Amino acid sequence: MPRARCRRRGRWQFGWLEGCSVETDDKGFIRTGSAVHAGYEDVDLTLETSVPGVFAIGDVRSGSTKRVAAAVGEGAAVVGQIHGVLRERQRLAGGLR
Ligand SMILES: Cc1cc2nc3c(=O)[nH]c(=O)nc-3n(C[C@H](O)[C@H](O)[C@H](O)COP(=O)(O)OP(=O)(O)OC[C@H]3O[C@@H](n4cnc5c(N)ncnc54)[C@H](O)[C@@H]3O)c2cc1C
Repeated sequence: MPRARCRRRGRWQFGWLEGCSVETDDKGFIRTGSAVHAGYEDVDLTLETSVPGVFAIGDVRSGSTKRVAAAVGEGAAVVGQIHGVLRERQRLAGGLR
């Protein structure tokens, strides 16, 4: 598996997600959405990684725009997706009708 990357003091860092089973692309950016999972019906999971319940946003995400506004937007969008996953898990466990 390629190593996940993150920039620190302007330089890309490698290895911080080693052993977490999160899938990355060939450059080390974290893959999300339909690239790595089938997802749930009716729940937007474009920012979820290959590990269920683990999300990636901003520069570290494969295919992201690598701009401040994009990172902030993904930060806002991921909240709704996390709520969607929690709601779906509750429904599957029989807690919601
Ligand atoms: C020189 C330069 C100029 C840029 N100019 C522009 C511009 O003009 N306009 C624009 O829109 N975008 C610009 N960008 C891009 C913009 O900075 C990024 O798209 C944006 O900062 C991404 O936000 P982020 O939260 O995903 O990542 P970051 O802002 O990189 O935040 C990641 C954070 O995680 C921390 N971190 C890293 N590793 C660990 C760890 N193991 N544990 C805990 N914390 C960790 C880092 O210290 C950092 O604080 C520029 C980038 C660079 C490098």
